[in-house]
Amino acid sequence: MSVTAQSVWNNCLDFIKDNIQPQAYKTWFEPIIAVKLAENALSIQVPSKFFYEWLEEHYVKILKVALTKELGETAKLVYIIKMENTYGNKQPFTEKIPSSNRSAVKSQEVDIPLNNKNPELRNPFIIPGIRNVKIESQLNPNYSFENFLEGDSNRLARSAGLAVASKPGGTSFNPLLIFGGVGLGKTHLAHAIGVDIKDKYPEKTVLYISAEKFTQQYIDSVKKNNRNDFIHFYQIIDILIIDDVQFLSGKTGTQDVFFHIFNHLHQNGKQVILTSDKAPVDMQDIEQRLLSRFKWGLSAELQSPDFETRVSILKNKLYRDGVELPNDIIEYVAKHIKTNIRELEGAIISLIAQSSFNKKEVTIELAKQVVEKFVKNTKREVSIDYIQKIVSDYFQMDVDTLQSKTRKRHIVQARQLAMFFAKKFTKASLASIGSQIGKRDHATVLHACKTVDNLSSTDKQFRKYVEDLTKKLSV
Ligand code: ADP
Ligand code: MG
Repeated sequence: MSVTAQSVWNNCLDFIKDNIQPQAYKTWFEPIIAVKLAENALSIQVPSKFFYEWLEEHYVKILKVALTKELGETAKLVYIIKMENTYGNKQPFTEKIPSSNRSAVKSQEVDIPLNNKNPELRNPFIIPGIRNVKIESQLNPNYSFENFLEGDSNRLARSAGLAVASKPGGTSFNPLLIFGGVGLGKTHLAHAIGVDIKDKYPEKTVLYISAEKFTQQYIDSVKKNNRNDFIHFYQIIDILIIDDVQFLSGKTGTQDVFFHIFNHLHQNGKQVILTSDKAPVDMQDIEQRLLSRFKWGLSAELQSPDFETRVSILKNKLYRDGVELPNDIIEYVAKHIKTNIRELEGAIISLIAQSSFNKKEVTIELAKQVVEKFVKNTKREVSIDYIQKIVSDYFQMDVDTLQSKTRKRHIVQARQLAMFFAKKFTKASLASIGSQIGKRDHATVLHACKTVDNLSSTDKQFRKYVEDLTKKLSV
C-alpha cells in the first residue's frame, strides 16, 4: 500500500483519538485536512491561526509522537493556515506556511482591508492627561474564574478566556466572542476575564459595558452633540468588554460607531471581548462588515452544562454561602433544572430561604415543590399542536401551509419533520399524528419518520434542522 498524506494522517488520527477526550478530538482534529506529504514533511491545513496556535500549545506533543511513529525521527509537520496572517514564529519541530505564499489555499471570507481607516479617527484628539483619569471598570469581582466552574460545556470558552486574560490583545482570540443561551454564564465569564486582567495588569484600562448601555450612551452623545468625545473615550480603552451585542441588531448608527471603535482598538493591539446570545451566523440585522469582524478572532460557545457540572456548580454555590445540603437534594435539583444556570442557582437559593424562614428541614418533598415552580415556568407542554407551531415558525411558514396538500419540497420536509417530532415527543399513535397533521394516514407518518431518519444521516443541512428543532422542543 502506498503511503499518502491521507494515509499517514489517518494513522495519526487513530492514535490521537485513542489518547485524548472525544470532545477535544472532534473540536481540534476533525476539521484538519491532510494536504501533502513531501519527503518527511506532512502538510496539514487548519482553519485559522487560532487553530494553529491552539494545536501548538496543547497538542504538539501528541502530534509529534503520532507523526514520528509514522514517518520516523525526521518527521516534520507543516501547517497551512487558511486565513491571511502575519504570525512569524517558527518552531523547531513544526513550520507554518503563511497563506500568502500558498496561492492554492484561499482565505474563506473576503474582509474589508484593515487599513480602511476613517480619516477622522486617524489622528484622534487625545484629551490632555486622559491617561491619568481613572476609568471605573464596572466589573463585578464576584464573577471570577475561580467561581466559574469548568465542564465540557464551557471548556473551550473558559480556556480561551484564560488565554486572553493572560495576554490581552496578544493572542489571535481578538475579538473573543462568547455566545450561548440565556443563563449559561456569558456575563459571568466576560467579567471573569476582565477581573483577571485587572489583577494581572493593574495599569491597563478595562471597561465592561452592556451593548444596551453603550447604545444609550451613543444616542445621548448624538443628542448632546459630542459624538467625538464618545468615540475618543472608547478608543483609549485597553480591554473593551461588550455584553449582549445581539442588542445592536437593527441599530445601524450604533453599529457604525462601534465598527470604528472596534477597528481602532483592534489595529492598536487592544483586546475586544464580546458576548451574544447567538452565534455570528445566526445574528440578524447586524451589518456584514461588523459580523465579519466578529469572526476574526474566536467564537466560543457556552453550552448547557451536563449533570456533573450542574452538581458542582450547586455545591460550589452552597459552599460559598456556607450552607450544607444532603447530596440527594442537590442531585434532585441538578437533575430537574438543566438548561439555565441562573435558574439552577435560583432554585437552590429559594430552597435555602424556604427552609430557614419556615424553619423546615430541606426534604426531597420541599425540593420537589421548589423545582416545580421553576420548571413549570419554563417547561411547555409538548403537544402535536405545539410541535407544528415550532416547526412552522422555524421554517417561517404558518401552520396551514405546513398542513396543506402541496408537494413543494421545503413544505413537505417541514411536514415530515413535524410528524417525526410528534412521534418522538408524544405518545400519540401514527394514525392520530397523521390525522392531526394535515389529515394524512398512518403510512404517510411512518414514511415521514423514515425519511427524516435517512436524511439526517446523509444531509448535513437537514441534520442541522433536526438538531435545532430538537433543542427548541426540549427546553
Ligand atoms: P448569561 O449572561 O449567559 O445569561 P450569566 O453569566 O448571568 O448568564 O450566568 C447566570 C448565573 O449562572 C450567574 O449567577 C453565574 O454566576 C452562574 N454561572 C454560569 N456559569 C457558571 C459556571 N460555569 N460556574 C458557576 N456559576 C456559573
Ligand atoms: Mg448576560
